Amino acid sequence: MSAPAPAPLAPTPPPGRPYSAYVYAYPHKTAYRPLPEPPALRDLWHGERKDALSLYLHIPFCEVRCGFCNLFTRIGAPDGLTGRYLDALERQATAVRDALGDDGPVSFANAAFGGGTPTFLTAPELERLCDIAEQRMGADLRAVPLSVETSPATATADRLAVLAERGATRVSIGVQSFVAEEARAAVRPQRRADVEAALGRIRDARVPVLNIDLIYGIDGQTPATWRTSLDAALAWRPEELYLYPLYVRPLTGLARRTALTDRAWDEQRLSLYRQGRDHLLAHGYEQVSMRMFRLAGTAPQGPDDHACQTDGMIGLGCGARSYTSALHYSFDYAVDMGEIRGIIDDYTATDDFTRAVHGRPTNGDEARRRHLLQSLLQAQGMPVADYRERFGADPHEDFPAELAAFAARGWLDQDGTGPLLRLTPEGLAHSDALGPELFSPAVRAAMAAYEAK
Ligand code: SF4
Repeated sequence: MSAPAPAPLAPTPPPGRPYSAYVYAYPHKTAYRPLPEPPALRDLWHGERKDALSLYLHIPFCEVRCGFCNLFTRIGAPDGLTGRYLDALERQATAVRDALGDDGPVSFANAAFGGGTPTFLTAPELERLCDIAEQRMGADLRAVPLSVETSPATATADRLAVLAERGATRVSIGVQSFVAEEARAAVRPQRRADVEAALGRIRDARVPVLNIDLIYGIDGQTPATWRTSLDAALAWRPEELYLYPLYVRPLTGLARRTALTDRAWDEQRLSLYRQGRDHLLAHGYEQVSMRMFRLAGTAPQGPDDHACQTDGMIGLGCGARSYTSALHYSFDYAVDMGEIRGIIDDYTATDDFTRAVHGRPTNGDEARRRHLLQSLLQAQGMPVADYRERFGADPHEDFPAELAAFAARGWLDQDGTGPLLRLTPEGLAHSDALGPELFSPAVRAAMAAYEAK
């Protein structure tokens, strides 16, 4: 699993509720709209810095649809669909590389295969995926950090061997819970023995960094069962661990979950978060963000927790987004299975990938918000001088009300007065409340007006 997306927001989020939305990219795709005059990619990328791009390839297939997931992915693939999808990916890669032009150096600083589940593809299909990244886009996969998402059932030895040989430096596996009843409650049924076997295969493949995703806040989860999952994960000494709070989102398998009141569920999640954080800190991990923990001494594998505020991103595949300094763009977005199938079918039938069709401008005020938001949500915080150098203003001048409110709630170190704007432990715990409060009114309105489909 990769980062789950936030649910659309109410126009004004209630201050202090700890779980409004996971802000891993700003603005969220629910704020994107069809672009009235789709701009040519060549014009969009002209003049952009292209010597340290991120490359993301999206594979929108999974074996099952987990109950908490609203990512852009479908269950299974009928005969030939993965081949047609890779054909389209290759056409898109060719068009995008052409659009990047040769007016300056083009190179990639990191790469990732996400989804969905990239290892839904067979070993030969994964070879082809790597070929597309290398031969069509010019990414040197063996020379840069390459992260790949996987699942217990699809992390087979032959697929992992391909990925390791082609340069994967990080494999991230969505386990969610080592307790069978909790996996069932999260609509992600799996046997612990199968999960442990998959982890063994990943370690055997000798990819340098293993990341394990776990979820807290599942129906019936207790401090004791949470501890069971944490310890089962720690037994593998993973270089990274992500602890995700459970969200219930429209149109997903858990959309009707009602066992606890909102307040009781918030308290359960906050308490399990604190338990998980303290447990990992006591076992040699450093906190990178609310969700991300890294074993001390492990080198970062690319941008931390989607924190790239400035570099360009090339996303390929029908669920991937791309970022220039002025526009974030992608294809249409949906959660409903029928809608997703339609969008994937349209993508595989597309010949012309030379224009951005769906997106949102991100210059001016939005760039400032994005920088502040994504830096502040990192445990290391944001040097005020970096913000000032980029935007020529102090973040306190740009966001006086928001930063004063965060300081008043005890969420900012030194009440936000120091040279480093950094969250306190309570601020980090409330990352999913704080982030949405920094959304612009226009983005908030677009998200609220978005109709889930
Ligand atoms: S494995 Fe589950 S969580 Fe991950 S993308 Fe597929 S459905 Fe979503």
